[in-house]
Order: sequence, then C-alpha cells, then structure tokens
Amino acid sequence: MAELQRQGCWSLALSPLHVARIEPWYYPNPALYTTFVSSSPVTEDGTAAAVDVLVEAFLEEKERGGGFVEAEEDVYKLMRLVRTLVAKERARAAWRVYKAEVRMGGCEVHEYIYRVMARGMKWLGFEAEAAKVEADFREWEARILPPAKDVLDEMRAKPPPPPPPPPPPRLRGDETKKKKKPDVRTAAEAAQGLQRHEVERRKKQPPPPKQEKAKRVVRWKCAAGCGACCKLDKGPDFPSPEEIFAEHPEDLKLYKSMIGADGWCINYDKSTRTCNIYEERPVFCRVEPKVFEEYFGVPSRPSTFDREACSACVDTIKMVYGEESAELTNFKRVIREESKFRRHQWPIM
Ligand code: SF4
Ligand code: SF4
Repeated sequence: MAELQRQGCWSLALSPLHVARIEPWYYPNPALYTTFVSSSPVTEDGTAAAVDVLVEAFLEEKERGGGFVEAEEDVYKLMRLVRTLVAKERARAAWRVYKAEVRMGGCEVHEYIYRVMARGMKWLGFEAEAAKVEADFREWEARILPPAKDVLDEMRAKPPPPPPPPPPPRLRGDETKKKKKPDVRTAAEAAQGLQRHEVERRKKQPPPPKQEKAKRVVRWKCAAGCGACCKLDKGPDFPSPEEIFAEHPEDLKLYKSMIGADGWCINYDKSTRTCNIYEERPVFCRVEPKVFEEYFGVPSRPSTFDREACSACVDTIKMVYGEESAELTNFKRVIREESKFRRHQWPIM
C-alpha cells in the first residue's frame, strides 16, 4: 500500500486495504487511515469523496468494536488523523471522527485534540462546530482540573478531624497480669539451646536493604555530523508539511521556501553537515519539548519527549541514510551513552 501511494496510485492502494479489512487479524488503526488521507490528492475529482467514504468506513469498523483507542499512543494516532483531515480541508470528516471518538467518550482525550479541532473548524469556516469544541474543552478542563477555589471551599467545609480516642482504662488485679507470650522458637532452635528472647530479637531484625536497581531512562541527544532532519522533502512515509503546519500557515510558507531542488534545506552545508544559520534557525528546527508539543501534539513530559524525539530521529536517519547506515549506528551509540543509567534532569535545554 505504501509503495502504491508513493507511486501516486492512491485509488489503487485502496484495493489492498479493502481486502485487508475482511481479514480476521485486521483492526482499524488510525495511523493507517492517516497515511491514506495524508497521501490523498484531494484536488482530484472524486478523491475528496473517497476520503470521506474511508473515514466513514473507519468509524463503522470502530463502532462494530474493532480496534481500540485507549492507550496513549492510540490517542496520538487519532489526533494525527483529525489533524490530517483538517489539513486536507475535510472538515465534515474531521468533525465526524471527533464526535464519534471524543464527544461520545471513545477515548481518553488530550487537550491538544481540542486545540486542533477548535482552530481547524474556525479555519475552515465551521464556527458553530468550533464553538462546540471550545465548550467541550471547557467542560473537560473543569472536570479534570477543578478550580483552586472549589478545592479550597471543599477543604474549608470539611469538619476538623475527631480527637484521638482516650486510652483504655488500666485494669487491676488478675486482669493486669501479662499473658504468657507464645514460644517463637522452632524445635531445632530449642534443641540448640537458644534462648527465647535471642530468637525473638533475631526474627525482629529488619532484612538487609535491597540494593536499588538503577532505572534506565532514554535520553535524546542530537548526534553530531548527522544532519538527516535537514532533508526537508521527506517523502510520503512522513507527515506532509501541510499536515504538520496545519495550524501554522506562516511556518508552512517558511518551511516550503527552505526546500532546495535536491530536497535538502538551502541553509544546510552538506560538506560539513552543519546548519549555516544555526543560532537563528526557525523554531520548528529545534528539537525541544515545547516544539514537539506544538507541532506534533507530543505531551511535554520528559520521558515522552525523549522517546518520541529518539524515534523521530531513527525514522529520519533510516529514510535519509538507510537502515544499515553508519549514521544510524552512531545515533544509537550516542543515545546509549546519553541514557546510561542516568536519572532524568528536567528541563532539557
Ligand atoms: S536526525 Fe536527529 S540526530 Fe540527526 S541531526 Fe536531526 S536531530 Fe540530530
Ligand atoms: S535551518 Fe538549519 S537546522 Fe533548520 S533544516 Fe535548515 S539546515 Fe537544518
């Protein structure tokens, strides 16, 4: 399917998808549909309608109970599908996905999906839908982040904790007699002549502290001399610039203006593999948590950012230099060394 899409045979690539859809192992993966929508030539007659049909098929499969959108990763895939539909100006289809998966409670949402939808619907002139998304967002925010005032009111309204119960009255006479403690010694210990208190003391001793295992975390670091991400024309396997910059039209213009005839950035020096405008490079060239959140919807949690940044580099290096390349081996080595039993420090700058 990918090869057919690469060769521009979009409609033909749909045939294997339809064959796959009837197989028992098939499940409706939002990423697959995103690739189709992303590579669709929606300007051609009939393709826009075919995209809408594809989205309806996806929703129908989900309704029948196929696939899942529960894990965080699947929510990202869903976000990408919505964003791609907005970028391809398929407002109705984007709204259908949003309505089915978010409004009907199909998945654990992330605030980014609301932002994408609200801005996208406005951009496409669907003001009423944009207002509904904003209202959904406010409701969701109020549910997951109760305002500080409510929390304070709740705390004030709570009665003070009850005083501790009085100690039990002291017993006199026979009742004060201590009960005989059971013998904790095993038969073997008694035979060895060990005293009861000695055995008790040994058993009470806390076990030696376990050695804490160092936690392995993945930390991202750019590998010097790589430069793979400066190949700006990345081909159909990667999200298109229109998709990435759906909400940043100025960035889209700038990005496109930087693509040279060979697909590499015009500011990239191939002989030294460095950027000629490194200090002034655009925001979208910076591999930083905020940038990943803004453009790719990756939450700026340290572990998520590092993982996503590493996987983006691996995909890009494979595409530019190949799976067996020295650049990929070098990148993996850099990440191994950077991540070596190192605890996270945050923020990464
Ligand atoms: S692909 Fe990754 S490692 Fe290579 S230059 Fe870009 S950020 Fe650095
Ligand atoms: S501006 Fe610099 S960092 Fe950005 S793509 Fe071009 S060469 Fe690479």
